[in-house]
Amino acid sequence: MPTNQQLFDTACDLMPGGVNSPVRAFGSVGGTPAFIVDAEGPYVTDAEGTRYVDLVGSWGPALLGHRHPEVTAAVHRAVDHGLGFGASHPDETRLAQLVRTRVPGAEMIRMVSTGTEATMTAVRLARGATGRNLIVKFAGCYHGHSDGLLAAAGSGVATMGLPGSAGVTEAQASETIVLEYNDAAALEQIFAEHGDSIAAVITEATPANMGVVPPAAGFNALIRELTQRHGALMIFDEVMTGFRITEAGYWGASGREEGWTPDLFTFGKVIGGGLPTAALAGRREIMEHLAPTGPVYHAGTLSGNPVAMAAGTATLEHATAEVYEHIDAQAAAVASALGSALETAGVDHSIQKVGSLFSFSFGTSAGGVHNYSDAQAQESFRYGAFFHAMLQAGVFLPPSVFEAWFLSAAHDDAAVEQIIEALPGAAEAAAK
Ligand code: PLP
Repeated sequence: MPTNQQLFDTACDLMPGGVNSPVRAFGSVGGTPAFIVDAEGPYVTDAEGTRYVDLVGSWGPALLGHRHPEVTAAVHRAVDHGLGFGASHPDETRLAQLVRTRVPGAEMIRMVSTGTEATMTAVRLARGATGRNLIVKFAGCYHGHSDGLLAAAGSGVATMGLPGSAGVTEAQASETIVLEYNDAAALEQIFAEHGDSIAAVITEATPANMGVVPPAAGFNALIRELTQRHGALMIFDEVMTGFRITEAGYWGASGREEGWTPDLFTFGKVIGGGLPTAALAGRREIMEHLAPTGPVYHAGTLSGNPVAMAAGTATLEHATAEVYEHIDAQAAAVASALGSALETAGVDHSIQKVGSLFSFSFGTSAGGVHNYSDAQAQESFRYGAFFHAMLQAGVFLPPSVFEAWFLSAAHDDAAVEQIIEALPGAAEAAAK
């Protein structure tokens, strides 16, 4: 088997940056990306045979760990009946039913293939249903890479230090109003000025693409209140949080307990169990604006693909309360050890955590991280050394300080112990 470096050299000749998604290129941490050839439970193994404890988790989908036997078996069963039909089949309905059972307010569901497609379609639907043009988003929230949503996006855009993207026209960008996250006054003001032109506010249920940034108490409820008052829609992007953290709102705190639901949700990652499935969902009267019942067009050759439906259904069926309790406990143990290691090494930091989803930032202890400006002001140059020390110690972290760490049901005590043992050395590397 060629080395990681040989594979990367060949890939760079064939693909821009050697990758199919920018953050994978290790641009902000330096060095050669590990080429993964196998994944099982909490581990991934690279082309050179090195096994790592994985905290990337396929960027979220691997809630149950890699190659969960029941998910794999469900996929095998589906494959035995064909890879795709381009026609309706019963498993689409099964997964849609599971989503509706778990998500108050998800009265109707449309399956799509990626989170980007889900948010792009949700925005089109909001415009079509309201007859209005303006979309409000928050700086640092990433909603995929459709043109109008790339303004001040987090995630890879933040990692590369880009303001947005070349190729997005001014006309497209001008219909997206970008506000600072957690800024209630700015939100109220924009509605006071443009309330009757705003089609929707799109927000991550809990932002996790500028690092994790918990919503201030009442902020999501304020979005709900203002959108409702002005006849705009609220799009709750749960591509990252949906079916991963119980706090995000789909069966937990913010939405249900405060007695409100968004008009539209977007889901991705966990809902596909590792295969390309995402969804938009929401109120029946809005969802029925989608073709073929309504005039807002959306279609997809691979939408509702039967193999992806099988993976998603098996994953949600096995995402029990015990799974969430386990992941929460393991995430708490890792986050606490991370804090201790950084403190012992004298590295100023803060840890932002919502349920099992957490990230940390350097040099932010004084003010904390409440928005994109705070996240960008951190000492991100320290992360490269931290990342590589962890990699050396056999822990595969997201190659960007702006990403959350993903634990899974398969992260047992041995895997967590390996992470915890690696942290002091990485903290010392970051201190230099
Ligand atoms: N929305 C959020 C909140 C995300 O975190 C992501 C991806 O990370 C997306 C949308 C886009 O999803 P995808 O990468 O499947 O297009």
